[in-house]
Order: sequence, then C-alpha cells, then structure tokens
Amino acid sequence: MSRVLIIGAGGVGGVVTHKCAQVPEVFSDIVLASRHLDKCNAIASQLNRPIRTELVDADDPRQVAALIRKVQPDLVLHVALPYQDLAIMEACLETGVDYLDTANYEPPDVAKFEYSWQWKYRERFAQRGRMALLGCGFDPGVTNIFCAHARKHHFDEIHEVDIMDCNAGSHGKAFATNFNPEINIREVTQRGRYWENGQWIDTEPFAVHRSFDFPEVGPREMFLMYHEELESLVQNIPGLRRIRFWMTFSPDYLTHLRVLQNVGLTRIDPVMYEGRPIVPLRFLKAILPEPSSLGEHYTGKTNIGCLIRGVKNGQPRTYYIYNVCDHAACYREVKAQAVSYTTGVPAMIGAKLMLTGKWCNTGVFNVEEFDPDPFMAALPLHGLPWVEKITDELL
Ligand code: NDP
Repeated sequence: MSRVLIIGAGGVGGVVTHKCAQVPEVFSDIVLASRHLDKCNAIASQLNRPIRTELVDADDPRQVAALIRKVQPDLVLHVALPYQDLAIMEACLETGVDYLDTANYEPPDVAKFEYSWQWKYRERFAQRGRMALLGCGFDPGVTNIFCAHARKHHFDEIHEVDIMDCNAGSHGKAFATNFNPEINIREVTQRGRYWENGQWIDTEPFAVHRSFDFPEVGPREMFLMYHEELESLVQNIPGLRRIRFWMTFSPDYLTHLRVLQNVGLTRIDPVMYEGRPIVPLRFLKAILPEPSSLGEHYTGKTNIGCLIRGVKNGQPRTYYIYNVCDHAACYREVKAQAVSYTTGVPAMIGAKLMLTGKWCNTGVFNVEEFDPDPFMAALPLHGLPWVEKITDELL
C-alpha cells in the first residue's frame, strides 16, 4: 500500500497513470501533477478508479517540495521533461522521498544529455537514506535490463552490444514525433557516437546506417545515434569492447527533418520575432502534434531489443532479445501509442519494485545495477512480453 506522485501528464504520464491504476495492491493512492490541470483531469477521467490531480511547475524545486509536503508520497515518478530532473531531485532530497525518471538531465540552452549532472547526486541521496532510479523507460531502461539479464544468464563475458530501436508504425500525420517533439528533435539531430575499445567515436548525424530484418516488422533502415544508456552500460558491463545504438527512421521523416533544420526551425537559441525573443524549436513544438494525441489512428508495431555478442563456457555466442509492441493494442488498453506505452510500463514496474522493497538501496542508480530477474518477470505480466534467442545473426 503506497502513494505515488506522478509528475507529467503527457503521452508517457498517461500510460504510467493507467498502469499504476491497474495495480491497486501496490499503488493504493495515485496523485498526478503537471503544468496544466486539464491534462491531468483528462487522464483521470479515463480511469475506472479515482485519483487526485494537482498543478505544479516542476522547473521550480520549491513548488515541487511544497507539493510533496502536501501529498506525502512514498515515491515521486517523474515523467515530465528532462529539464526538470534536477529540480525534482532537489525537492526529493529536501523532503526525503525516493525518485524515479525515464530520461537524463539536459540543460535547456545546450543540446547535451549525459548522466554526469545526476550522478553528482549519489552521495547526497546516500546520506539522506533515499534512492533515485534513473532512466527507467524502455531505452534507456528495458534495454539496460536486457543487458543485465544477458550478463546474468547467458554470458560469462559480454563483448559487443547493439541496441536497436525500430518504430515501424504509422500515425497518419505528415510529420510528428513519438515523444516530446522538443526533446526528440534535440536528440536525433545530435552527432552520432559509439564506444569501442575504451574510446568514444563521433560520427556525422545519420551518416552510419544499415538495414536490419526486425522480427514481426521486416527489414528497416536504422541509423547509428548517440543514446544515453551507452554512457551507463559502458561503466556497468565489465569486459565490454563495443556498444552502439541504432534507431530506424523513414525517408519521409528524414526529409521533413532536413527541411526543418535547413530553415532554422530546430534552433534552440532565441531569435527576435516581432520584438520578443522566441526559441524556434519551442515554436515548432507548439505546432506539432502532441505525442499523447497520436494513438487513436496509429497502426503497426515497434520492435526494440539488443543484439549481444560475447563468450559462454569458452565458446563465442550471439544472443538477441527484443520486445514487439502493437500501437493499436496499446491504444485499446490505455489510449496511447506504443512509444508512450513502452516507456510508461517499465516506469511503473520500476516504481513497483522500489515500493515493494525488491529494488532497494540508498544513492543514485541506473537500472542495470539491480537484479534483472524481478523486472524481467514483471514485463510480460504488465504488457511487454520479450523474446530471446541464441542466434548466428551478425550485424
Ligand atoms: P509529452 O510532451 O507528451 O509530455 C510531457 C509532460 O510534461 C506534459 O504534460 C507537460 O506539460 C509536462 N511538463 C513539461 N514541463 C513541465 C513543468 N515545468 N512542470 C510540470 N510539468 C511539465 O512528452 P512524453 O510524455 O512523450 O515524454 C515524457 C518523458 O519521457 C520525456 O522526458 C521523454 O524524454 C521521456 N521518454 C523516455 C523514453 C525512454 O524509453 N526512456 C522514451 C520516450 C520518452 P504541458 O502539457 O503543459 O507541456
């Protein structure tokens, strides 16, 4: 029996709230807070049990701390934006509450995301006797746990990891992003980056790509990108020689993105417009569809997984583990598309493991630092079945 405070009422926030509401024996009391109360109330009205809703500007740690004091939660589950990570962590420290998120901090004025800012809180959370769990969505999140599971059950040593994220769905819009447009466009326009033999290697954006035949989806072109789980997995998989992250993009998406970049609409520095400064990417975000609005007509599937190479009993082994998620099925269950769903379900599971004491420690942690078994067991029970195979498939 516990009370959770969910912050953020977008695509992911909606799924997390639905999924927590499905587990009343753990989440006996749910409070959903965000910047606009009407969005919280719209989600609350979809549920078949009552929850409380609250207004908060989570950029302000004092507002978050005041809300925590009012609500008295056992855990704060943060699914607003990465910009708020540090403010919410500060508020959790001040009030002595555990914390969970799905995306690492990035400063609004620099498109740079890395764990360093949040890892700096390790000592303070440990001293306060509280736990912060970082990156508990799908990627980061389940992909890290897939690696921990492979390491525990299938390998003596892991040498190479390729994380592959494919969305083969169709939302019927000319251009839309599957999670927050501002965060998504900042992420995909970064330089590519992977880790090999102890070094980070940079590539031009979208320069390295290849086709992969994704189960239940078919062949898709995927592009090498930098992604935040690489940073923690490099530290947490001993013996690793190379790790890369790949994401599929349709030619149509890439063409739209190139045009938006070329005309300056993805800029994050302010420009003067009719006498006042505006950030072009924030303006673009305001006119693009919201991720939570995409679900209704979305068809097709996602396939996200890890292809892992290493040795077991002195023999080389290649192992592939993945989840397939159907957009329309997600909408039928929780009124959301599969990208929100695959993020929200793991966030709920991480919260459940923390609240039931199965994942318990003091300090700041990435998910692969805990025993993967209870998480892997929970995934299919809550809507994300996984498939694993020992394979000869090479990338
Ligand atoms: P949305 O844009 O749909 O939702 C974001 C929500 O946060 C909105 O309700 C927004 O309110 C709210 N919000 C923004 N700023 C504040 C603030 N200052 N105070 C309070 N609330 C605020 O995004 P998504 O739901 O798609 O994504 C949510 C998070 O999930 C992001 O951080 C994203 O990076 C992460 N994510 C992680 C993935 C993973 O696998 N690990 C995959 C996909 C997403 P408003 O409506 O007023 O703007």
